[in-house]
Amino acid sequence: MEKLYGVIGDPIHHSMSPLIHNFALQKHRLHAHYTAFHVKAEKLEDAFKGFRAIQLAGLNVTIPHKQSIIPLLDEVDPLARDIGAVNTVVLENGKYVGYNTDGPGFIRQLKNIDRHFSRKKVLIIGSGGAARAIYFSLAKEKVQTIDMANRTIQKARTIINDCPYQTESQALALIDAEKCLDQYDILIQTTSIGMFPNIHETPIQIKRLKENTIVIDIIYNPFETKFLQEAKKHQAIIANGIDMFIHQAALSFELWTNQAFPVEDTKKLVIKQLGGDKC
Ligand code: NAP
Repeated sequence: MEKLYGVIGDPIHHSMSPLIHNFALQKHRLHAHYTAFHVKAEKLEDAFKGFRAIQLAGLNVTIPHKQSIIPLLDEVDPLARDIGAVNTVVLENGKYVGYNTDGPGFIRQLKNIDRHFSRKKVLIIGSGGAARAIYFSLAKEKVQTIDMANRTIQKARTIINDCPYQTESQALALIDAEKCLDQYDILIQTTSIGMFPNIHETPIQIKRLKENTIVIDIIYNPFETKFLQEAKKHQAIIANGIDMFIHQAALSFELWTNQAFPVEDTKKLVIKQLGGDKC
């Protein structure tokens, strides 16, 4: 029988997950299909009962269900439990187990840019769901200095305090982060500022950036945010969020199928789908 995988969210019609996972399933000639399910917050429990009934083989979970899915699962992987968000559900021996591949997906991207990243000083801009997953994953990888700057500074403090892995971290106001950018080797932009259609906005001024700083903006629409354009003017090493997106999908796919995800071919497909080749 054909195995069924899917993604749940609200909204969900813009998701590229069906495209890339069906591409990977077909590459491996697996007898399986991946589809998008539009599930409203108040229908999550009913929807998940349905998935149990049909023994859905695996699920991606996106906004607004990443936290609320947790009590419905049989088990949750420790990192996902600490982060407090699940984006991947795997049917393992009849049990639904939750994982978070967003942070580990980002780590795969960073390792490809600098395999010595754990010795570097990192600043994360933003304190939303993605920032929390990235912060916890960097801390798990033993990065010692991870500061966090956010408009709402209390949210940065909460992430730092909640993290079970030891780090030296401080929470900063955005304006204070601007003044000490030259202290960092790696800058990670995780706010939604600069995302299409507000492409002329940046979360902070980056005049004090030092040369060769690694600057990653996890946004991928546009490919090159204003923030990355400014960083490039300061001779930074820049990267957008496509690789994080591909690697979080790759980790989900590997958990479901035990097969390698076709990373490079999928990246080309995503870039084509987004209408560009400027990456
Ligand atoms: P989120 O939980 O809603 O967090 C949004 C963050 O942006 C918060 O830190 C928020 O600050 C900040 N922010 C929003 N508007 C702002 C403004 N006008 N001024 C200052 N700060 C502002 O969102 P998320 O889920 O973390 O996602 C954030 C971004 O990452 C989105 O663009 C999303 O598309 C992208 N993303 C990419 C990937 C990938 O695979 N590449 C994965 C996940 C997310 P406050 O805390 O002060 O509100």
